[in-house]
Amino acid sequence: MIALPLGEIAEITGGRVTGGDPSVVVTGPVEYDSRKIGPGGLFVAFAGEKVDGHDFAGVAIERGAAAVLGSRDTGVPGVVVEDPLAALAALARVVVARLDKLTVVGLTGSSGKTTTKDYIGQLLSRLGPTVAPAGSLNNELGFPYTVLQATEETRFLVLEMGARGIGHIRYLTEIAQPSIGVVLNVGAAHIGEFGSVEGTARAKGELVEALPSSGTAILNADDPLVAGMASRTSATVVLVGSRGGLTASDISLDSAGRATYQLSDGSRIGDVRLSVAGEHQVANTLAAGAVALAAGMEFGDLVAALGEVGIVSGRRMDVFTRPDGIVVIDDSYNANPSSTAAALRALASMGSGKRTTAVLGYMAELGEFEVSGHAEVGRLAAELGVDRLIAVAGEARPILDGTAGVAGWRGTGLFAADQAAAIEILRQDLHADDVVLVKGSRYRTWDVADWLRRPEE
Ligand code: ATP
Ligand code: MG
Repeated sequence: MIALPLGEIAEITGGRVTGGDPSVVVTGPVEYDSRKIGPGGLFVAFAGEKVDGHDFAGVAIERGAAAVLGSRDTGVPGVVVEDPLAALAALARVVVARLDKLTVVGLTGSSGKTTTKDYIGQLLSRLGPTVAPAGSLNNELGFPYTVLQATEETRFLVLEMGARGIGHIRYLTEIAQPSIGVVLNVGAAHIGEFGSVEGTARAKGELVEALPSSGTAILNADDPLVAGMASRTSATVVLVGSRGGLTASDISLDSAGRATYQLSDGSRIGDVRLSVAGEHQVANTLAAGAVALAAGMEFGDLVAALGEVGIVSGRRMDVFTRPDGIVVIDDSYNANPSSTAAALRALASMGSGKRTTAVLGYMAELGEFEVSGHAEVGRLAAELGVDRLIAVAGEARPILDGTAGVAGWRGTGLFAADQAAAIEILRQDLHADDVVLVKGSRYRTWDVADWLRRPEE
């Protein structure tokens, strides 16, 4: 946030000043959780279904907030607007436009946005003050909220952009005006075709369309629909992947599932040894690396820095070894067929000489590909030779059906009616040479992952 008098906030948001002096200056932070607000801050009150933020206006002021932005007068210094969410977006747009030292990076894709955002944040922090908060703040609220974390000191602002339809990303780019845009992938390229990937590509491509000609579009060369977006931008295009401006070759995975690869920008090469697990991290770190190079990082520094990046947002390829020796891959944050395929490959690469277990829950939002999507994942698990495949809840059952046609699979398919049942299966039979992957859409396998983390609870 930048320092703004209440009167100006009212002007920007089309609201009116209430209960205070229009010359009162708000310095930030902007918060919608009254527990986080600090001195000089702007508390944004939303009238939610369960909780009405306006009830906390007084508390926020007591905690030092300079003013409250809400949809009704709460008797404290503030600005009243019709729609606080739209007001937040208007404020974000103006703040970003005034921060002239700021480089805005936008990234989108079907899988890996938050992970790659974490990487970009860590790389750019080496070049200057960076805002790239942990978590998945990519919707109408999280997005402007993140934008408003930027201050005069901030050099880089890294923004995850989720596309829920045509026009959505365009709306976000109008708020934040990125000059570097990254498109990671548009769908389930590796494991059959799910849904209308062309429609998804149209929506995600709005990011590169919005870039200025002085900007940089970073596109995954190995995803044809992403590479095809090159024609939709006037910005400089950097393809990343197995070919293009920044490439990875000689990729191999160690026994902990971590990739090593040779990074090349066409004139220089360097050996990258990742400390995060999963082959899909190659694509993610390449994209992040291209951002860092575009932002001015030296190639040699990048090679070293890529080896140090980690995932700070939880439940994403979080690999840990328990005191009893069992290795857990907690990738339970969310799932679709392509991210599940990536996780299963990581499990397989970590499982040599060990027993592998995949606990897989339902994958949401597959539409007409719901049954086939689950079956494909099951088939891949069997093809990869996963030893135990546990499908959690009735809607995930087609995963087990998918193993049927795989000749020579010697593993076991088990059905768990719910997470408690899956935990029971694990409790009965776990030993020191187990590697266990947990994955499903949102909360659907979180209890299992939490139990593996703290089995006594
Ligand atoms: P959301 O749309 O839920 O915000 P996201 O795009 O931010 O998701 P992440 O939260 O980073 O994605 O990761 C979601 C899942 O996808 C994780 O299980 C992660 O391991 C996996 N994943 C990350 N990168 C890739 C990739 N390049 N290809 C396939 N799967 C990936
Ligand atoms: Mg995310």
